Amino acid sequence: PQPVVAVVGRPNVGKSTLVNRIIGRRQAVVEDVPGVTRDRIPYDAQWSGRAFTVVDTGGWEPDARDRAAAIAAQAEAAVATADVVLFVVDATVGSTDVDEAAVKMLRRSAKPVILVANKADNTSIELEATSLWSLGLGEPHPVSALHGRGSGDLLDAILAAL
Ligand code: GDP
Ligand code: MG
Repeated sequence: PQPVVAVVGRPNVGKSTLVNRIIGRRQAVVEDVPGVTRDRIPYDAQWSGRAFTVVDTGGWEPDARDRAAAIAAQAEAAVATADVVLFVVDATVGSTDVDEAAVKMLRRSAKPVILVANKADNTSIELEATSLWSLGLGEPHPVSALHGRGSGDLLDAILAAL
């Protein structure tokens, strides 16, 4: 079976947009309304001649109730079955309490994590993204899933971690 890359993070940080960028087509549902992606949805991806599966998830929120809790459980299940996790944060917002809670969940999973600083649409946001070192997940990878900026470097980092 192909290696599996799970994409997790808060609602609306651009996980589904990033999945579309990675798979090179628009298949994951992107919404301005948070919490649209409910289930673990696998897509086939390829980069530099290597094939892998990328799994889109709904937004992870700690201590969420009902529907939101179910979405968080799906994200945790996706992490459990992944070989590598892409943890996506919004570089225009910086790290939030919810991001920090997600980091604890990721640490418990003991999976390799690549920190993605999405929405780094320009150089100044890219520079601000260096503050995300504070999350303790190593180097932040600034990307603009929307415009493609940084996505080649991110894909190289994914292959290196697989
Ligand atoms: P998800 O909830 O994490 O899956 O986020 P979505 O992929 O649905 O994106 C939420 C919103 O953020 C949409 O309006 C996207 O167009 C927008 N978005 C995603 N990536 C970027 C990016 O790199 N730059 C900017 N400016 N907006 C983005
Ligand atoms: Mg989504």
